[in-house]
Amino acid sequence: MDLGIRGKTALVCAASKGLGKGCALALARDGANLVITARGKEALEATAEEIRKASGVEVTAVAGDITTPEGRASALKAAGQVDILVNNAGGPPPGDFRNWSREDWVKALDANMLTPIELIKAVVDGMIGRKFGRIVNITSGAVKMPIPELGLSNGARTGLHGFIAGLSRQVAQHNVTINNLLPGPFDTDRLRGNMEFNAKKLGKTAAELAKQRAEANPSKRFGNIEEFGAACAFLASVHAGYITGQNLLMDGGAFPGTF
Ligand code: NAP
Repeated sequence: MDLGIRGKTALVCAASKGLGKGCALALARDGANLVITARGKEALEATAEEIRKASGVEVTAVAGDITTPEGRASALKAAGQVDILVNNAGGPPPGDFRNWSREDWVKALDANMLTPIELIKAVVDGMIGRKFGRIVNITSGAVKMPIPELGLSNGARTGLHGFIAGLSRQVAQHNVTINNLLPGPFDTDRLRGNMEFNAKKLGKTAAELAKQRAEANPSKRFGNIEEFGAACAFLASVHAGYITGQNLLMDGGAFPGTF
């Protein structure tokens, strides 16, 4: 299926690795030109080159912290017109809420709620004017099924979801859609880091715990970034214009509810 995004410009945040990279790769395969960001320049440049070779699209790599005003400004400047925005940033660290200060909370809110809102604010009126826009927020399955040690993530991301639920209905008439992708366990550096944290607490190795967690998932495995990217590209496509304000959970069936 042709997604109808050839020649469009996609800004994919936090995309040198993991889920953001999966989204960037999928959008590029369908012909979208990219601006990708991450803090580490070396990995970002390597990913940009990998995507150029795989797809032939234009890929601009902008190194910077997307959770800062400077990081956002340089990404937006490099992109110019943004037709597709994929919001993403690293997740907050795990821990016990008794140890989190106000500063820790502000940092989590900045990264996982206010940064996506700032970026949406910067691009949405241009999208409305051009009568096309697709915004996909990478959040977490934790907004449906909270993860005890990731309280900062549970809290900050749920705030974003509440905001998106309202805004998405205000811009739909202009063919601008905003949807959330909620990853369950995907095999990325982030997942491996969380495994290390939990394995230590349980007196297991990270490999043992990963095997156990994968087996406990109805799909008997973790997700991969290609399947995550494919879902993102569909939501960014011309075909998804009647899907907005939705939360697509991708967790291999782990959430046990009917809805
Ligand atoms: P990952 O494999 O660790 O990759 C994170 C990517 O984001 C890297 O490219 C990283 O590059 C970049 N990044 C991190 N912080 C950034 C910042 N402040 N500014 C710009 N770029 C930044 O992580 P992932 O698994 O893809 O996770 C992506 C998001 O999904 C996270 O918020 C995570 O909490 C959430 N999530 C993941 C899973 C999962 O199972 N993987 C499940 C639920 C939710 P640099 O470090 O060089 O900046």
